[in-house]
Amino acid sequence: MKKVLITGAAGFLGSHLCDRFIKEGYHVVAMDNFITGDKKNIEHLVGTKNFEFVAHDVTNFIELRGSLDYILHFASPASPIDYLKIPIQTLKVGALGTHNLLGLAKAKNARILIASTSEIYGDPLVHPQTEDYYGNVNTIGPRGVYDEAKRFQEAITMAYNRFHGLETRIVRIFNTYGPRMRLNDGRVIPAFMGQALRGEDLTVFGDGSQTRSFCYVDDQIEGIYRLLLSDYEYPVNIGNPHEITIKDFAEEIIKLTGTNQKIVYKDLPVNDPLQRQPDISLAKKILNWEPKVDRAEGMKITYNYFKSLPQEELHKSEHKNFKEHIKE
Ligand code: NAD
Ligand code: UDP
Repeated sequence: MKKVLITGAAGFLGSHLCDRFIKEGYHVVAMDNFITGDKKNIEHLVGTKNFEFVAHDVTNFIELRGSLDYILHFASPASPIDYLKIPIQTLKVGALGTHNLLGLAKAKNARILIASTSEIYGDPLVHPQTEDYYGNVNTIGPRGVYDEAKRFQEAITMAYNRFHGLETRIVRIFNTYGPRMRLNDGRVIPAFMGQALRGEDLTVFGDGSQTRSFCYVDDQIEGIYRLLLSDYEYPVNIGNPHEITIKDFAEEIIKLTGTNQKIVYKDLPVNDPLQRQPDISLAKKILNWEPKVDRAEGMKITYNYFKSLPQEELHKSEHKNFKEHIKE
């Protein structure tokens, strides 16, 4: 039986990856320090044969007994609000955490897949974004802590690949959504849906003309799974190319939720990318992958998930663990 280590396992994508690898018959070692994640996301797996959980901060040395076939490094704050609140931890998990996991992969002779992001393209001057575009990132802006950690992560991964001959994979994930996102993580989908459920106006930042392209989680997990098992060592975009302005998206959510609220406009955050759309030609070609779930269907499932959460979840303003970790 193949054994896989998944970091960030109590988070949104990490927990869906755990489900997928258990389903495929792997032994899953799940690792997390709960800084932005939640035990509830993996509770259903605890007690399952072939699933074990290790509470650990991956910025510290990682010791694991036994063999390991694959590592998927997904630990990192991922929402702009989260990484503005915990900037040092964001830099550390992208840099020190990635270094530790590459070292572990080398020691175990395991293949490692690194979760990169469309944010490495910054506010892109090439549209849609292809993997050969180098990006347009402000190193010292507030988003720099995330973007540069992820760019360093790609650089050190390729260095281990070239210098140590390590088997590496890099996925550049574009905005992904679905059940188990944190309602208060500040990303646009939980933000708008939380506002609709609380009966608040929807806050569009800027004039709402900036664009994003949203990928449903099941499609994202399928792309990542195929990339891990492929022979391709260079970065691959995984996302849904169906692009929409944030203003139109807010209107779509007002329709979907049936809320009587309206749109209110707030300042655009510094360095908020004005357009984002993945070019997925490479993923189509080498992974025979493309998204299958359209936005209407994915958003309906996601809204039903948020609606089913206990009332108190709706009113939490930030993650309960931030204060505990902030001193580190
Ligand atoms: P998330 O915040 O839900 O999950 C991240 C998980 O990592 C959390 O459970 C958190 O507790 C854990 N973590 C953070 N620092 C850690 C540390 N030092 N040690 C151990 N665990 C730690 O975010 P997500 O959306 O699931 O994102 C997962 C990964 O995918 C991240 O690397 C993110 O950069 C990447 N990504 C996600 C998206 C997206 O749209 N969801 C887009 C681009 C990239
Ligand atoms: N956004 C918004 N209102 C909100 C939250 C986000 O208008 O309450 C905008 C944000 O400025 C950005 C887009 O929605 O242009 C997507 O933001 P998100 O935080 O989800 O992710 P990003 O793609 O910026 O990392």
